[in-house]
Amino acid sequence: MQAGHAIGLDLGGTKILTGVVARDGSVVRRHERLTPQDSQEHVLAELEAAVAELLDESVVAIGFGVPSPIDQARGVVVHCVNLPLEDAPLRDYMRERFDVPVGLDNDANAAAIGEWRTGAGRGEEDLVMLTLGTGVGGGVIAGGKPLRGHNGAGVELGHVVIVHDGRPCQGACTGRGHLEAYVSGKAATARAREMFGSSADAHRLVRLANEGDEQARELLTDIARHLGSAIGSFVNVFGPQLVVLGGGFGVAAFDYLAGPAEEVARREALEPMRSTVRFAKAELGTAAGLIGAAYVGFEAVDA
Ligand SMILES: [Zn+2]
Repeated sequence: MQAGHAIGLDLGGTKILTGVVARDGSVVRRHERLTPQDSQEHVLAELEAAVAELLDESVVAIGFGVPSPIDQARGVVVHCVNLPLEDAPLRDYMRERFDVPVGLDNDANAAAIGEWRTGAGRGEEDLVMLTLGTGVGGGVIAGGKPLRGHNGAGVELGHVVIVHDGRPCQGACTGRGHLEAYVSGKAATARAREMFGSSADAHRLVRLANEGDEQARELLTDIARHLGSAIGSFVNVFGPQLVVLGGGFGVAAFDYLAGPAEEVARREALEPMRSTVRFAKAELGTAAGLIGAAYVGFEAVDA
């Protein structure tokens, strides 16, 4: 195992979070940039600039968490729901420019890996992590390793149906009634606007709840109960010891989401998981994704 640092990048719908990360998961330096929304070329250029500003001789690998299924054999970002990236050869692009091993993973997988290696899930063998941000991502650690599915595509827990024929999903997803359409930060913003007018968003919704606004708290409870339905199913499917909630919206609204979500999830889950599963807030906060992405980079070195 080589010493040194990895640069981890968490490509989000609004921000690119980047950090230089040590083997023990500590973040040595970090930066953030806004995510371009206009073209694939621009997104790739911005990711390249984000690496370049942190690169030094201590860096032995680069890892990316991207909100898309990944084709691991080709090192390709297959298709982002919320960003203009499609069939993007990210691994070769970055290898050619920086000449170090490059690892790719789904962003929610990366967040789950971060929490598992060094956050709320340390020492667990089986955990499910949900990241509530612009979209909803899911990462699963099963039997002590990340569950990546065929060719490493990752699992898309945000795109499971919780309401048959329900709300249209977000971005490029053509599905209906998906979890993401009910509990993402973007969905919370849409609901907040219906209730509080066009200037409201998910941040303001949480702020209003913090100030004691009953309508805001009820709306967050409703979002939480939808979340709980899905978590109950995930507990039945994956049998985790621990469910971790993270992502920008998930962390900010955790105090309003966790209780009602847990109550509904335990109603839906079967024994013995109903009694044994535990719930936790992501300990690494919004850094989970970039830390996990750095571990994906280290995996590329160690492979
Ligand atoms: Zn969907």
